[in-house]
Amino acid sequence: MSIASNISALQQELQPIGVELVAISKTKPNTDILEAYSAGQRVFGENQVQELVAKYEELPKDIQWHLVGHLQTNKVKYIASFITLIHSVDSLKVLQEINKQALKHDRTIDCLLQIFIADEDTKFGLDHAEVIELLRSEEFAALKNIRIRGLMGIASNTENQKIVKEEFYELKMLFDGIKTTYFRKEDSFNILSMGMSSDYQLAIEQGSNMVRLGSTIFGKRVIKHYKAQ
Ligand SMILES: *Cc1c(COP(=O)(O)O)cnc(C)c1O
Repeated sequence: MSIASNISALQQELQPIGVELVAISKTKPNTDILEAYSAGQRVFGENQVQELVAKYEELPKDIQWHLVGHLQTNKVKYIASFITLIHSVDSLKVLQEINKQALKHDRTIDCLLQIFIADEDTKFGLDHAEVIELLRSEEFAALKNIRIRGLMGIASNTENQKIVKEEFYELKMLFDGIKTTYFRKEDSFNILSMGMSSDYQLAIEQGSNMVRLGSTIFGKRVIKHYKAQ
């Protein structure tokens, strides 16, 4: 299957059920991204700021770029002018920096709060208590140039479907609870980003409306480090 036909098949599967496809293009060359683009894909995600900025500069300007990887405070400035959605906000500190840089560019930056749901300690994210503390804080209330659009989570990397399903279920419950308590009047709190190539169908069953797919579209990633082209 070609990249273009993978995109078409996925869009046919996902569009009718209202699930947004983010094509995760990390480590992949621009030629691959352009093939997906030619098939109509406009939303792409990267996990590293440097690679994201290089691709943003080289590729068509109507691409909507999402950041899905961990964001360090000192790197926010490089993406603040153009980023469409940051999936990986995991502290008040980084949110404050995003707000500051967004203000400089006279814009509002859409963000998701990344929630730690996996049964592993290698993954970033806020736990339940931390996300509630953040949302209730005065510091958060003062941020006017960011908009929280929803939550993101990465499930455990396991063959055990039951565990993955429970983690997605837990995130959906948290999403519903947070929406009711903190965003009742904000229709824009409406994104639940969960599901990757290995588990996106399970994620959709559990209520995901945004999936982040890399290898399903572009094939396996063989190179670990991106080289600027
Ligand atoms: C790499 C990555 C993906 C896509 O992974 P695949 O298994 O290739 O679909 C999704 N989300 C995040 C946060 C990633 O880093």
